[in-house]
Amino acid sequence: MNRWSNARLVARLAVALSCSSIVSPLHAQAQRGPRPNDLSACMARLRATPAGRRITAETWRRATATLTVDTRVLQQLDAQPEFKLPIWDYLAVMVDDERIDDGRRFMAEHRVTFAALERRYGVDPHVVAAIWGIESNFGRGMGSYDVLRSLATLSCKGRRQAYFRREFLAALRIVQKGDVAPDAFRGSWAGAFGQVQFMPGSFEWLAVDFDGDGRRDILHTIPDALASAANYLRHAQWRRGEGWGIEVRLPADFDVSAEGRRVKRPVSTWIARGLTRVDGTPLDASLAVATEAGLHLPAGPLGPAFLALANFSAIYRYNASEAYTLAIAHLADRLRGAPPLVTAWPTDDPGLSRAERRELQQLLAARGHDIGAPSGVLTTRTRAAVEREQLRLGMAMTGRPGQRLLRALRESR
Ligand code: CA
Repeated sequence: MNRWSNARLVARLAVALSCSSIVSPLHAQAQRGPRPNDLSACMARLRATPAGRRITAETWRRATATLTVDTRVLQQLDAQPEFKLPIWDYLAVMVDDERIDDGRRFMAEHRVTFAALERRYGVDPHVVAAIWGIESNFGRGMGSYDVLRSLATLSCKGRRQAYFRREFLAALRIVQKGDVAPDAFRGSWAGAFGQVQFMPGSFEWLAVDFDGDGRRDILHTIPDALASAANYLRHAQWRRGEGWGIEVRLPADFDVSAEGRRVKRPVSTWIARGLTRVDGTPLDASLAVATEAGLHLPAGPLGPAFLALANFSAIYRYNASEAYTLAIAHLADRLRGAPPLVTAWPTDDPGLSRAERRELQQLLAARGHDIGAPSGVLTTRTRAAVEREQLRLGMAMTGRPGQRLLRALRESR
């Protein structure tokens, strides 16, 4: 249900904001007649619905008095990613050394909370920490959009209005209950908010007041945020005491054509067909409690292979993206002290961590490219500079920076 979160958007890599955020004077003039940015008529219609009438007049006034259309939100809704980020780029940035170090430090700092939510909800605290780290960089990047304005915009304009109307009404009820104040209600452009990026409907259903102060606060109260994510996973049918899966090695000439992470087979069948742990030792004890697993090949038969257990699907229910799910699963393993993946990705140009992206941006700036402050985020300007350097270096002009471009820029410094 959190498919509109920041992490999901990073996965989609929308690059389309460049010039579309500037509305030309001509365009504005052409639209002037019916005051296109006014939401009051649409809000009045929503207020007259049965669900709208259950919101008090005071809440409507507080939450909607000054709302206007946020055109950036509509651009995001319609933005098509220019190309899909390869899984190895996504994992390189989501599971980098920085996030692993941060995660271990935050888990130590909040060990009492993590132990308590493991007892209460039966979920793996490393997975909860991984969600926290990937959804909001441990609470440091929760999104800066006005959630009420975004959801009001999406309730009245664009596609999927029915879905967003339900979320907007949920957001109003959250304000009415006092869990979130309207001016503190910030999040992703699509309305996911807080340290674990819940949509308002998920919040109403599954958020938890874990510190017992009477408010469910996933924006500022870490125990509430982490317990809410744990409660979500429990409702997503997390199986206590089971892992999410394991990296495996396939026997030579293994036929993968009929396999997939949803094609569940007993672990005994996988053992009989010759699968082993990735280091070649037998699959056995660690998977004994798991009855069934599917073979997950995120980059095809030549890349890393995984047996995905039921808990892989539980993570997927948090955010319906296989790349996201693998990032959470692998980061959780790394937080537990496990080594990196053993099998290499099928590429000769692996992806960059956030630190390497910042270094790349510094090298681009040093070569005179105007890319703004090195943030580690691949902005449109960074990609344009990458293309120009790729052209200069005789590389394919993809706009995608990898280890090869970083090395070349270091050498031509
Ligand atoms: Ca609380």
